[in-house]
Amino acid sequence: MARYTGPVCRLCRREGMKLYLKGDRCYTEKCAVERRNYAPGEKGQTRRKMTEYGLQLQEKQRARRIYGVLERQFRRYFDIAERQKGITGENLLRLLERRLDNVVYRLGFAASRAMARQLVRHGHITVNGRRVSIPSYLVRIGDEIAVAEKSKEMPLFAELAEAAAHKTTPPWLEVDLERMRGRVAAFPSREDIDIPIKEHLIVELYSR
Ligand code: SF4
Repeated sequence: MARYTGPVCRLCRREGMKLYLKGDRCYTEKCAVERRNYAPGEKGQTRRKMTEYGLQLQEKQRARRIYGVLERQFRRYFDIAERQKGITGENLLRLLERRLDNVVYRLGFAASRAMARQLVRHGHITVNGRRVSIPSYLVRIGDEIAVAEKSKEMPLFAELAEAAAHKTTPPWLEVDLERMRGRVAAFPSREDIDIPIKEHLIVELYSR
């Protein structure tokens, strides 16, 4: 599946907020939003008044960028969310959270979703004991996500586990950092998803 390969800090500057796409760097003063908190490009410093459509579009782009999903796949998630019971916007976020790359990131096995995606692609992650190399794989309740046995010896994972020990694991996931494995205890509720997205704007956009 295709993905965005351009400069990611530009995306944060475009959104005017940190999207935490680069892992540890995002927490330092090297972060581009900290240094130049205005949109990139020539007209980046001119304020524009947003139309309703513009706001809806911005919210959708923001969600896509946070999860690293391209338009077609994002639209597919929306269509699934719409067919599910409950609130469409929340269903959409829940689907995005259930992506394997996101779960690997949330468990602390990667410093960013982009890194998680790469680790999954390169076969470092197993689900229920079997290697899964599809970042968009949707986890289910009870799934066990782990770093593959051979990969556990890589110094990278020791560093990641150390860093993860200082982070909070979302309540819907259980993690054992010593064994580098985690479990999906439940699907996340909206309160469990700490991303600054007004999902109702995305629903309004696609309902036009
Ligand atoms: Fe965004 Fe992280 Fe780059 Fe800062 S360092 S602009 S938060 S990707």
